[in-house]
Amino acid sequence: MTYDSVIVDSHVIHQSGIIEKNIVINEGKIVAFTTDIPSCDKKINAAGLVSIPGLIDTHMHYGVYSPIDRAATTESHVVAIGGVTTMMRMLRLDGAFSMNLQQQLKASSDSHYVDYAIHASIFNQTQIDEMKLCVENGITSFKLYMNLGGEIGHVYMEMNPGETKLIESHVDVNDEIIENVVKNAANLNCPVLVHAEDYQECACGIKTAKEKNRDGLNAWSESRSPDYEAKAIKKISEYARKYNSIIYFVHIGSSRALEQITIERENGTKIFVETCPHYLTLSHETQDGYLAKVMPPIRTQNDISSVWEAISKNQINTIGTDHVANQLKL
Ligand SMILES: [Zn+2]
Repeated sequence: MTYDSVIVDSHVIHQSGIIEKNIVINEGKIVAFTTDIPSCDKKINAAGLVSIPGLIDTHMHYGVYSPIDRAATTESHVVAIGGVTTMMRMLRLDGAFSMNLQQQLKASSDSHYVDYAIHASIFNQTQIDEMKLCVENGITSFKLYMNLGGEIGHVYMEMNPGETKLIESHVDVNDEIIENVVKNAANLNCPVLVHAEDYQECACGIKTAKEKNRDGLNAWSESRSPDYEAKAIKKISEYARKYNSIIYFVHIGSSRALEQITIERENGTKIFVETCPHYLTLSHETQDGYLAKVMPPIRTQNDISSVWEAISKNQINTIGTDHVANQLKL
């Protein structure tokens, strides 16, 4: 038979390691790895190049600092160059989904270079009541920001398509919101993505650091202690067990958080875990300046080792970038 195409002579990243084989493709699917070159319509010479499976970036923010009609093009262009074939957007809307969702979806539906999916952030009861509407529009995962509330509830939402005005907002992701999102997501059979930091503890920590005139990434890590991550993980896991829902912890990067997740898994909570490149590479012990200021903070060299170890033990399921499409002038 004649196949559609064969990619010849590349180094193929395969689940068994790197293999030196030709990739035979038929009807859009890889059907064989061969050493010979079978009859085909198209032969692609890839000598010296590397073939990798299309990567999935599970965690990206775009549409907040530039409108989605523009950001979908720029960000999907960049990820495609890096080998990413599916990108997942964290959507943050200020108002009701019934008012804003359609224009957000329409504004980006023709402008991605790669496949994409959307996680919807839920901040209030109105949006909780609209989770079903999201599912009807193809959004099947929801994000909870346990780090946002009270004095530290400030957040930027998605810009309106076609405009460049920043949309500032204030939210309170309190226990009632958290419980209702977990409950509703379970009813809809959707996972809840969780930013696990207790906002009340973080607010206290930041206040104390300011009073002591502390500065730098070390102080940032201290003011948002890994214990506050653990506290949030414990709280939401209790709700998850109560309603039998699935939790996906985003950007886990501390050994304390990983310990708590192990405990909650042993307690029977259904948990998936994501980490990010910065928790695998950066620590406040070796970084100066503010460029690596993220939430949750980068931690110590020991924490980096713990994250690598958790990956090797399959305790971490995904790596997402948590890329925020910002502009240098901001
Ligand atoms: Zn994020």
